[in-house]
Amino acid sequence: MDFSLTDEQNMFRDLFRDFAEKEVAKLAEHIDRSEEPPLDLFRKAAAQGFFGAPIPEAYGGVGIDWQSYCMLAEELSKHCLSTAITIGLHTSLAALSILDAGSEEQKQNYLPSMAAAEMIGAFALTEPDAGSDPGSMSTLAEKIGDGYRLNGTKSWVSNGGIAGVFVVFAATDPKARHKGLTAFIVEKDTPGLTLGYREPTMGLRGLDIRTMYFEDCIVPEANRLGAENGGWPIILRAFDRVRLTLAAVSLGAAEASLALGVTFAAERKQFGTQIAHKQAIQNYVADAAVDIEALRGLVRHAAWLADTGQDFGRAASMAKYFGARAAQNIANKMLQTHGGYGFSDEYAISRYYRDVRALRVLGGTDEIQRYVVARAAFEEKGIRIQP
Ligand SMILES: Cc1cc2nc3c(=O)[nH]c(=O)nc-3n(C[C@H](O)[C@H](O)[C@H](O)COP(=O)(O)OP(=O)(O)OC[C@H]3O[C@@H](n4cnc5c(N)ncnc54)[C@H](O)[C@@H]3O)c2cc1C
Repeated sequence: MDFSLTDEQNMFRDLFRDFAEKEVAKLAEHIDRSEEPPLDLFRKAAAQGFFGAPIPEAYGGVGIDWQSYCMLAEELSKHCLSTAITIGLHTSLAALSILDAGSEEQKQNYLPSMAAAEMIGAFALTEPDAGSDPGSMSTLAEKIGDGYRLNGTKSWVSNGGIAGVFVVFAATDPKARHKGLTAFIVEKDTPGLTLGYREPTMGLRGLDIRTMYFEDCIVPEANRLGAENGGWPIILRAFDRVRLTLAAVSLGAAEASLALGVTFAAERKQFGTQIAHKQAIQNYVADAAVDIEALRGLVRHAAWLADTGQDFGRAASMAKYFGARAAQNIANKMLQTHGGYGFSDEYAISRYYRDVRALRVLGGTDEIQRYVVARAAFEEKGIRIQP
């Protein structure tokens, strides 16, 4: 395993960093306060190829590898987690599910517009009564003629209000639980599909999260993604991708939080000297720096597995689990370093503290990541554990 970056990966990282510093940083506070997704910024990011970063060139994308794609998520999240996650879910969940399971016609129809951000993508799996257990979902897709009639409710659909295309999961054989799920590509103007208001959330306020309602929504058979009752493997592969993406988001957020804490501690004076000279503060900084390097190693390793065509699900779950907790701990300690200023909305650390909390839930909770990691350990002993 050689994790040193190639010239091309270095070039991509510099491009991502430059864009994030020049274009994203100046908007991050406004995005949080206005609770509006920055559509102009998305257009600029799309012009740089970010919305199509992992989509192959044949479908209008850039075709970058996982190592580079993780650096895109990392660099964006150093400045704005909402922006990083908007782009991260559009690519890892929506676009790459179409690339993964779509017919040639579906790929040609959707991926070039998604790469250009003319159609932003969303992924509608969770329901009010089915979160960690998608097999219990109650949205139904009933076969009618040459299409399907969808009825049900999806919750927590990120990018919902700005998406042009949704990858939606519904039960075609409810008794079969996860083996009876089917994926569909649903365009935003399809009759029978309506969206709720943006969910009020404690953080990630630039991420457009909606509830979706399907009432006799007719989806043509040509928009079924993969086989009937073949949705579960599509979901599992999407989970692997989004977990690695969110681990990279955690890395960027952790680095940014540490940088804010160090800058504050180097300036703030108490008892006649900078608080950087206090061992309690030094310990916070040291622990954060160690966690960040450990997380970087987990992300690089999972990306290396993905880039070399190996199974990266367990590694992605480990990175996501460790990363979400590390980002939360680091944001917490760096907020503490700021003292009362950390609790003020005038200081960016409070935004990171609120935003990173979602990383322990979205893309599968901490508890589900632990299950994935433990399952792999017990499989080696011939024991199949259940969530
Ligand atoms: C910011 C944000 C964005 C999101 N974006 C999307 C999106 O774009 N698309 C989408 O489909 N969903 C999205 N989600 C939903 C997210 O995937 C779910 O919230 C998550 O999977 C957990 O489901 P739940 O909220 O229903 O919690 P539940 O599944 O009800 O879990 C509640 C608690 O019980 C624990 N628990 C449940 N089952 C087990 C078990 N077997 N063992 C141990 N503990 C267990 C959980 O870990 C959790 O602590 C988003 C969520 C957030 C917060």
